[in-house]
Amino acid sequence: MQYYSTRNKKKIYNFEEIFLNALASDGGLYVPKLLPKMTLKEIKEMKNFSFQELSYEIFKRFTGDTFPAADLRKIINKSYSVFRSKKIIDLKKIDNIFCVELYHGPTLAFKDVAMQVLGHMYDYVLGISKNKMNLVTATSGDTGAAAIDAFKNKKYVNIFVLHPENKVSETQRRLMTTILDPNIYNIAVKGTFDDCQYLVKEMFNDKNFRNSIQMSGVNSINWARIVAQIVYYFFIYLQQEHPEKQMVVSVPTGNFGDVYAGYIAKQMGLPIEKLMIASNHNNLLEKCLQTGLYKPSTVNPSISPSMDIQVASNFERIVFDICEQSDSRVVSLMNDLKEKKEFQLSNEELKKLQENFVALSISEDETLQTIKEVYASTKFVIDPHSAIGFKALKKYNNFKDSLSYFCFETAHPCKFPESIIKAINNDPPIPEFVKNIYKKKENFTVLQNDLELIKKYIQNKASSPQS
Ligand SMILES: *Cc1c(COP(=O)(O)O)cnc(C)c1O
Repeated sequence: MQYYSTRNKKKIYNFEEIFLNALASDGGLYVPKLLPKMTLKEIKEMKNFSFQELSYEIFKRFTGDTFPAADLRKIINKSYSVFRSKKIIDLKKIDNIFCVELYHGPTLAFKDVAMQVLGHMYDYVLGISKNKMNLVTATSGDTGAAAIDAFKNKKYVNIFVLHPENKVSETQRRLMTTILDPNIYNIAVKGTFDDCQYLVKEMFNDKNFRNSIQMSGVNSINWARIVAQIVYYFFIYLQQEHPEKQMVVSVPTGNFGDVYAGYIAKQMGLPIEKLMIASNHNNLLEKCLQTGLYKPSTVNPSISPSMDIQVASNFERIVFDICEQSDSRVVSLMNDLKEKKEFQLSNEELKKLQENFVALSISEDETLQTIKEVYASTKFVIDPHSAIGFKALKKYNNFKDSLSYFCFETAHPCKFPESIIKAINNDPPIPEFVKNIYKKKENFTVLQNDLELIKKYIQNKASSPQS
């Protein structure tokens, strides 16, 4: 299995390299040179596979010879042993839509599905080389908690998580800051998530800094995360009773990682008709789908904070595909983005985007109203992100018998109690272990949105040896 960067196809890497480096040194994102394909017959033969078995089947097609088969199986089984649902991912039907519960992991959002695997993969690879690495990652609320849970008490890894101060929910924050293992560093940045993401990207682009701390990253651009997310598209297809139907999947979207995984699943052979990019009012992707103009503006906070994003990092991967995998075209568009703060897709490129995706944004009022309606008719409590996905699918209103409809539930409602109470006048159900985090001591450091200052902080902590 060979990989290269979206900005330079000449240099080839293997899975271990791209997974440990996360971001290519030319600033591009890693993608496979050739995607593994599956026929519908091969896919249907996996009908009775458990989530873990299916995971193994997908991962082995991407990981080359990084892991012997038995070890890869062990990594996957350990990863999903901490999930609260035996099936890992559950489906429930609301009206004619399959809601996909992706939040049964230890930190109650879909990010656990990929992050747990990453934690065990790092442990395995670094356990062999005895190298110590420092992971630096930005979070809009859920990645950080998932990463901290996956890397706590891992021997060869320190992890630094940058979250925007006061811009994540209290539950989201406490899931990160109450884990007190000595290799965990929480930094609250006085800025937005986009600021945090920019800081991390600048650190990656500073080769001296990057090498000085053996830096790595587990942001949603890490290809291994995409692979783990491909799995559940296959899984839900096989769980429904109508394999002859094409799928429409609505995905609450921020950084474009989860919905991009669906696009890859489709390229691999899964019968997906359309992927819905559902967003809140931070809707630059909806605008881009209409006009081809990709133009980030400033983030406007919402009740779905994990999607308060104006720079969708994984979008570069889809750009690479729709411009016929031209690395020079990607470089030119990304230069426009850097210099003019926007880029314009050609009509041809836009058409290819529209063939695969639709996009709709949902207002704050509609989001609360949707939570209320779903509760009134079913007694299910869905979180604000999931409500956006659900409402977008309803509004799309393209219901046909030949299609089956899915909506991702990306987070557990107890992560956003204020919005739930506002919508249904009732508390969300709260798992027992979550109640405990409100009593625990928190540990985090508040820092100014200042690249040099934060680099210095990280360098100091990274170099102090810990046992
Ligand atoms: C991260 C996140 C999203 C957005 O996912 P992307 O892969 O960044 O598009 C949506 N909902 C929740 C709850 C999240 O944590």
